[in-house]
Amino acid sequence: MILVFIGPPGAGKGTQAAKLTKRFGIPQIATGDMLRARKAAGTLPQDLAEIMSAGGLLPDSAVVGLIRDRIAEPDCAKGFILDGFPRTKGQAEALDAMLKEIGRDLDRVLFLQVPDTLIVERIVNRRVCVSTGEVFHLMYSPPPPGREVKQRDDDTEEKVRRRLTEYANTFQALRQHYGSLVREVDGTGNIEEVSSRISQAIEA
Ligand code: AMP
Repeated sequence: MILVFIGPPGAGKGTQAAKLTKRFGIPQIATGDMLRARKAAGTLPQDLAEIMSAGGLLPDSAVVGLIRDRIAEPDCAKGFILDGFPRTKGQAEALDAMLKEIGRDLDRVLFLQVPDTLIVERIVNRRVCVSTGEVFHLMYSPPPPGREVKQRDDDTEEKVRRRLTEYANTFQALRQHYGSLVREVDGTGNIEEVSSRISQAIEA
């Protein structure tokens, strides 16, 4: 099973991909997480780190190689879930070429849809556990007492608006590119509601 999650920041791609990882026993591959790990380790070039902090998109060349290497790892043999890649038509074309090389096909491309007002509310209240990376919402799923959490530097309202603009500029091209593989899923409501819509969309 090879799945792609596409959606604005804060649509719940990461949360839902993590649930499917458990269900299907295939890894979740999140370019944002991979890039943040490199940034924290000081191995991401400074110019790219600055683009990320400002909420902009990195050039395709900075992410395509990461995916190429990652999907060649043994734990991807049964399939994988892409979360946050592809984000541009160029990345989608690069993914097509990579999958062709290894003789694999995409099963579904899930577009999670959430209105901008809800996105901003979700993102500015988002906190990430410093040690486990777990994601919390200050009001709806607050971190347990004593847990050290932080806000991503691109999770401010101003930067979220920039990231939403980036998304608005590219998602139509992706939807067209993927045609009949696309399933649109309402990403509003609680995690279980969205999860059951996703299950239906995968089977449909
Ligand atoms: P995310 O965790 O998916 O919200 O990604 C955080 C940031 O990483 C984005 O705002 C971009 O700066 C960068 N990024 C992640 N994935 C990609 C991608 N596929 N293409 C370009 N930039 C990306």
